[in-house]
Amino acid sequence: MPDKKVVTRFAPSPTGHFHVGGIRSALFNFLFARQNNGTYILRSEDTDKERSRKEYEDEFLELFDWLGLKHDMFFRQSDRLKLYQKYIQKMMDGGFAFLSKEIPTEEGQRDEVIRFKNPNKKVTFNDLVLGDITVDTTDLGDFIIARDINEPLYHLTAVIDDFEMGVTHVIRGQEHAPNTPRQILIQEAIGAPRPTYAHLPLILNKERAKLSKRDESVPPAIEYKKMGYLPSALLNFIALNGWNPGGEQEVFTLPELIKKFDILKVQKGGGIFNPEKLEWFNREHIKLLPQEEINKNILEWLPENMRNPKIIPVVLERISKWRDVKEMAQRGELDFFFRRPEFPKKKLLFKNTSPEKISANFNQAIKALEGLNEENFSKENIKTALMAIADKLDSRGEILHPIRFSLSGLDKSPDPFIIAEILGKNETLSRLQKAV
Ligand code: GLU
Repeated sequence: MPDKKVVTRFAPSPTGHFHVGGIRSALFNFLFARQNNGTYILRSEDTDKERSRKEYEDEFLELFDWLGLKHDMFFRQSDRLKLYQKYIQKMMDGGFAFLSKEIPTEEGQRDEVIRFKNPNKKVTFNDLVLGDITVDTTDLGDFIIARDINEPLYHLTAVIDDFEMGVTHVIRGQEHAPNTPRQILIQEAIGAPRPTYAHLPLILNKERAKLSKRDESVPPAIEYKKMGYLPSALLNFIALNGWNPGGEQEVFTLPELIKKFDILKVQKGGGIFNPEKLEWFNREHIKLLPQEEINKNILEWLPENMRNPKIIPVVLERISKWRDVKEMAQRGELDFFFRRPEFPKKKLLFKNTSPEKISANFNQAIKALEGLNEENFSKENIKTALMAIADKLDSRGEILHPIRFSLSGLDKSPDPFIIAEILGKNETLSRLQKAV
């Protein structure tokens, strides 16, 4: 337990679509703050005027709202220019920064910038994930901290904000580890205490390359909302990338993650982003939902003319996420519930069984099902009735295949018993009769 009140921050730059990899940094900052009764700050780092766009900020705000990663405070760096100017002035007055004349080598470059006066020393910091890191800052030179008094740059604004906001723990991606020595030098210049650092391992794609914004296989994070994933599943999946709670349990809700998360167990090496595993997590999290909620979602994702509550169990068995419902319907896989399927006769045949034998089997089935009344026309009773016949044949397929096909008209479909129950006695019998 840290002795000071924990303050964490997640500080995305709204310069492009927010990426799934970024969710993990946000999540770990959130979890660490929550488990320590601390404060979690969201900070929009929009100092890059050319590349920052409000719509990207809106996008990550919408994303975190959907994910339920509620921040306690929100700041936007472009609202804080006065503060940065005050620090720049102070640093220049104290000899920690200076106006530097430049010879522009490229178009658009300035002939004057503000540089940090590098004390050229060795900096050692401890990282909760990476251990002790020592860097000789001499190689960094007198680096630029502001284009001018109105345009402070990332290293400076991040350090000032972390100080002003009382940030105790800087938890961020490993790509920022090389930035840390510069930021520590600035901290020392402005008299800020050093926060605790934790640099998280990279998330890799299947080719073990860093997951990038350009990765086609991984769409922007907000797309996962549109695809109908459950936020809890996405968070669970992402939490276990680079962190291993130990033990057998894999499915965790957000409250469980808050309890279990251990920053000291974050691994150094990158974890693979495996989309199939996400599908699995999503199916597991659907199972945790109350039945009414499952029903409501499936019905909503079905086209209006297919919103029949009876088909819910069949649909549920065949999806990983809500959008699959829509796609299943679009592929025509549910049509047979709503209209009689058309198919070539020969599809009703089974291996070498003669058409006469198949017809006879159909007739037996019809007789057996006629014996069930409408109220007892359940998949269990249908199964008992049909299996009694099937078990006396050379192969069960001689009757089960033609029945299933006559009901669905599809090579792949749910079993005939559930289809018959959903269609009801009348419709089932007419389809079987037609098949005969
Ligand atoms: N704004 C930086 C980024 O989007 C994050 C900086 C930090 O976490 O210190 O990558």
